[in-house]
Amino acid sequence: MLKVEGLSVDYGGVHALKQVSLDVAEGSMVALIGPNGAGKTTLLNAICGSVKAAQGRVLFEGKDIVGTPPYRVARLGLLHVPEGRQILGPLSVAENLDLGRLAVGGRATDGGNDLERVYSLFPLLKQRSEQEGGSLSGGEQQMLAIGRALMGRPRLLLLDEPSLGLSPLITNQVFAALQRLNQQGLTILLVEQNARRALDITARAYVLEQGRVVQSGRSADLADDPAIIEHYLGRAGGAKPASAVV
Ligand code: ATP
Repeated sequence: MLKVEGLSVDYGGVHALKQVSLDVAEGSMVALIGPNGAGKTTLLNAICGSVKAAQGRVLFEGKDIVGTPPYRVARLGLLHVPEGRQILGPLSVAENLDLGRLAVGGRATDGGNDLERVYSLFPLLKQRSEQEGGSLSGGEQQMLAIGRALMGRPRLLLLDEPSLGLSPLITNQVFAALQRLNQQGLTILLVEQNARRALDITARAYVLEQGRVVQSGRSADLADDPAIIEHYLGRAGGAKPASAVV
C-alpha cells in the first residue's frame, strides 16, 4: 500500500534522511523504531507531504505522492496523528472530532456513523463529548487525536509516538485500540520510542538510526535480536517513558 523508495530529506546542512526505503503492506501494522533524532518524525512528515523530499519516491497505492500538499494526501486516505496530538484546546471533544471530517472535505451530514465508530472504540470520548479538548488528560487527548484522524476515514494511519508521556496503563489502552483498528483492516505505520511495546503489537518493523534504515524484519525476530535487545529493549524492556501523565 505504501512504498518509500530512496527517500532523502535535508534541513539546510542536516541530512535527516538518507536514502530510506520501506514497505507497508495493505492490512499490516508496521513499527518504526530508533533513537532520538534518528529521523522518524521527519520520515512521517515527508510521507504526508509536510516536509519536502530532496530525493526519492513515496508511492501510495502505486501513485507517487512526493510534492502533493498535505491536505490532498489526507484526502487520498493517508492520515497522520502527529507527535504532540495538536488538539484544539478551546473546542469541545465533539468539535475536535468534527475537524477530522472537515479536514478531508467531509460534508455536514455524513459524519454520524463515523462518530459512533470512534465513540465505540473510545467510549470515554463520548462521555466527554462536550468537554473542552484542552481539559482532557494526556491519554484522553491521544485518543481524541486518533479519533479525529479516524473521522477522515483513513486507509493508512501514520502515528508519531502515541505513547509519549502516557502511563503504562493508558499506553495499554491506546495500543489495544490500535490493534483493534488493525484487526478491522486499517493499515498502520507506528513510530515509537517504546520499542518493546511497538515490537509486541506489530508484525514487521524497521530500525532507523542517523537517517538510515539499519535493520528490518519480522517484529518477533527483531525482539529476539541481541543487538536490538541491547540498544532498544534493555533489561526492563523498552525506552524509559517520559514523565507519565494520565
Ligand atoms: P525524536 O524521537 O526525538 O522525535 P526523530 O527520530 O523523530 O527524533 P527527527 O525529529 O525527524 O528525529 O529529527 C531528525 C534530525 O533532523 C535531527 O538531527 C533533528 O535535529 C533534525 N531536524 C528535525 N527537524 C528539523 C528542522 N526543522 N530544522 C533543522 N533540523 C531539523
